Amino acid sequence: MRSGTKQHSSAPPDKHSIPWDNILREAKQRFGIKAFRSGQREVLQSIFAGHSILAIMPTGAGKSLTYQLPAIFLPRPVLVVSPLIALMQDQQEKAEEAHIAVDKIDSSLTSRETAVAEDHIAHGRSQLIYVTPERLQNQDFIASLKHAGGISLFVVDEAHCISQWGHDFRPAFLTLGDARKALGNPPILALTATATDAVVTEILEVLHAPDATILNAGTERENLSFAVHATVNNDAKLARITSMIDEENGGSGIIYTASVRSANELHDWLKEHGIAVGHYHGKMPIRERERVQQAFIEGVHRVMIATKAFGLGIDKPDIRFVYHFEFPDSLETYYQEAGRAGRDGLPSRAVLLFRLEDKRIQSYFLGGRYPKVAELEDVFRSLDAADVKSIAGKSGVGLRRTQVILHLLGELKIIRKTRKGYEAADLPTTEKLEQILKVYTDRAHEDKERLSEMMLYAESTRCRVQMIRAYFNEPAGDPCGRCDNCSDGKSAEHSVAELQPVITRVETFTGPIFTTAPETLPAPFGLNPVQVGTSVLHKSFGPGKVLDLHGTNALVRFEKAGTKRLRTDFLSPV
Ligand code: ADP
Ligand code: MG
Repeated sequence: MRSGTKQHSSAPPDKHSIPWDNILREAKQRFGIKAFRSGQREVLQSIFAGHSILAIMPTGAGKSLTYQLPAIFLPRPVLVVSPLIALMQDQQEKAEEAHIAVDKIDSSLTSRETAVAEDHIAHGRSQLIYVTPERLQNQDFIASLKHAGGISLFVVDEAHCISQWGHDFRPAFLTLGDARKALGNPPILALTATATDAVVTEILEVLHAPDATILNAGTERENLSFAVHATVNNDAKLARITSMIDEENGGSGIIYTASVRSANELHDWLKEHGIAVGHYHGKMPIRERERVQQAFIEGVHRVMIATKAFGLGIDKPDIRFVYHFEFPDSLETYYQEAGRAGRDGLPSRAVLLFRLEDKRIQSYFLGGRYPKVAELEDVFRSLDAADVKSIAGKSGVGLRRTQVILHLLGELKIIRKTRKGYEAADLPTTEKLEQILKVYTDRAHEDKERLSEMMLYAESTRCRVQMIRAYFNEPAGDPCGRCDNCSDGKSAEHSVAELQPVITRVETFTGPIFTTAPETLPAPFGLNPVQVGTSVLHKSFGPGKVLDLHGTNALVRFEKAGTKRLRTDFLSPV
C-alpha cells in the first residue's frame, strides 16, 4: 500500500481560498467535534485546494466528515455515491442535524419524494447529494445535474466496491468514471477503510483519476485483539462459539459465516442455547434485512449471524466481538469485517475459527466467480435489447455478470454505448474471446493466492497484527502484544526480517532471483516435479514447502525466509 500524500502541502488551502479557521469553526459548531482526527485534516486541505484524493482511513475514523464539511463551503454541490440505501439514510439524517441542505435519490423514495429531490437538485438548492451508482447511469439525471451548474466534488464512499478484486464489488461502480467525465471531470474524493495496492490502482483507473493524491491514514486498530482457534470438526466449532460468547460478558457481536447454510445452522444452534440472536444474509428480502439490522443496532439481538452481505458502513460503536465461523476469501475481507468491532475505541476481539476443510467452501465460490466465453457470446448476441436489464434477461446471463461483460467489451472498444443502445463490431472469434477473458483467468489465479494467504494467516504462529501490516505493505513494526500468538509467546520466535515477505508481490523477486541461473535443470516440458505439498530446497532461501502452484509459479513457505512466490525452476524437490 502506498502511504503518505504526494501533493498536498501543509499550507492553508488556496484554490477556494476559505480561511482554515472558518472550516474549523463550522466543524465545531455543526458537528460538535473538538479537533480533526488523523487524516481528516489532510483530506480537507486537499479538497479545498481542488485536488483529487483517495483516502484510506480505518473504520470509525470519520470519513463522512471529510465530504460533509466541504459541502457547506464549496460553490457547487458535493455528490456522494454510496453503495447502500440504509447507509445513505443514516448519513442524510446526520447531515440534516448539521443543517446541511441534503438530498438523496434512491429506490426507497416514493415518486413524489423523488420529484421533490430532483427539483432541489435542478434548482441548485442542494449542498450535498447522495445517490446510488445506478442512478448515475441515468443520462437524464446527469443532464439535470449539469444544467444546474455541475458539482464541486465527486465522492465515492466505500470506494473498494469499485474493485472486482474486492469483497463488496458492485458492477454499477464500474461506470462511475463515465459519470464523472459526463460531469466535466470534477475532483474526486474516494474513501475506503482497506485497500491493497491492486485495489487502489483499480479505483483510480475506474474513476479516471491517475493524478489523485493517495492518503493512507493507516489501517491499524489498536483496540482490536486478534486470535485464531483451530478446531477439529464442526461440532467442536459450535461448542467453542457458545463458550466464547459466554466469556464476552454480555457484549454484542457479529459472527460471519461463509455460506447461507452455515448462517442458518449457527442461528438455530445459538437460539437453542438461549442467546438473543438474529441472522442476516443476501437471500433475505430487503425489508427483513433492514428489520434485523435495526434490531441488532438497538440491542434487541445481542449477536448477529451474517454472511458478508452484512455490515458495510454500519455505525454501531459498541460491537465487542467479531467472530468468523469460516474464513473469508482474503485477509483483506477478514480485516474489513473484523474491523467492525470496537468503533468506540474500547477493547474488542476478532476471532477466526478454522478448519482446513473450510477452504473448500471458498474454492467453490471462486469457481463460479468470473464470466465464461459462452456467457460473453450470449451477452454479445443480446445487445439489441433495450437496456442492460433486458440484455441480461435475453441472454440468460445474470444482471451483475451482464454489467461486468458490457463494461469489459466497452473498455476493449468492441462495443460502444450510444443514446439508443449499444453499437457493436462483429462478434469476435472464440479464440479472441478467450484472450479477452484471460484477465479473468489471471484474476482467478490471484484469488486462489489470496485464499492461500488467508490460510497462512490462520496457520501462522507469527504476530497477527504484523502479518496484517505486511499484507497491506505497511512496515512490520513491533509485535502487537495483544494477539493469541503474542500472548502465547509464539510470535517472539520469529524475526522481523522473515515477516517482511509474508505476503510479497511478485515484483519483489524479479531482481536477483530471476536473473540468476537456475541451480537445477528446468523440468522437462509438461512435467513439473514440484507439486503442492512438495518439500523443496532453494539456493538462497533454504528448505520450504509448496503451498500453491499455478503453472510454473509457486507459492512457497520457507522455514526461515517466510513465504515467497517464485518460479519452480529455482526449486529442487527434496
Ligand atoms: P467512517 O465512515 O470512517 O467509518 P464515520 O464517518 O461514520 O466513520 O464516523 C464515525 C463516528 O466518528 C461518527 O459518529 C462521527 O460523528 C465521529 N467523528 C468523526 N470525526 C470526528 C472527530 N474529529 N472528533 C470526534 N468524533 C468524530
Ligand atoms: Mg463510512
